[in-house]
Amino acid sequence: MTPAEQQRAEAARGFMPPDEGLALWKAATDADSRLGPALEVGSYCGKSALYLGPAIRDAASSLFCVDHHRGSEENQAGWEWHEPDLVDPAVGKMDTLPIFRRTVHDAGLEDVIVAVVGDSPRVARLWTSPLSFLFIDGGHGIEPARLDFELWTPHVAVGGLLAIHDVFPNPADGGRPPYEQIYLPALASGHFVEASATGSLRVLRRVGD
Ligand code: SAH
Ligand code: MG
Repeated sequence: MTPAEQQRAEAARGFMPPDEGLALWKAATDADSRLGPALEVGSYCGKSALYLGPAIRDAASSLFCVDHHRGSEENQAGWEWHEPDLVDPAVGKMDTLPIFRRTVHDAGLEDVIVAVVGDSPRVARLWTSPLSFLFIDGGHGIEPARLDFELWTPHVAVGGLLAIHDVFPNPADGGRPPYEQIYLPALASGHFVEASATGSLRVLRRVGD
């Protein structure tokens, strides 16, 4: 594989390249923390949290990281994007929580990041705090993406930001659900306008009801 092919393959897997990570950090620094805390859906081993955390700390705010840490459908054994060393052998299921915790600890972000371990729709249905910043990078199947749009985006405060990862308008570049179930409906709702686009990362701003 050439380096360019390698990068395309990694992007299709949801890996976050440095330019998207820096754009994520920049968007988090642009968020108005007076509107509420920040929250990410889908943390995996903590890479995106590493980009978000310092921006949230500078704003003296908090970053809630929601993940059941059992992996998405495409991470399970027998699927293409499975990493066998992330399976807890005692349980026979994926477990990224220990690695996530170590990542957060090693980055000195334990005072900024609050891990919420659970199913995203279950947490979203009980969530009540308005968010200054929401990053959606959870399950990329049609139904998980649709639910994350439906249940989380209403929590973004007017003036707050919604970031979406793995948005691929061109089907040849990657999976459809983040584009079709989150990005397009957010724009079509009239509640969000696009603020920036970097690789597969889109940042939208909530503009009112
Ligand atoms: N944002 C991370 C990558 C996230 S990968 C980064 O860039 O570093 C997607 C994550 O979503 C996985 O860790 C998976 O466990 C989580 N996920 C998928 N469906 C979920 C659900 N219904 N509830 C909670 N987490 C979920
Ligand atoms: Mg991703």
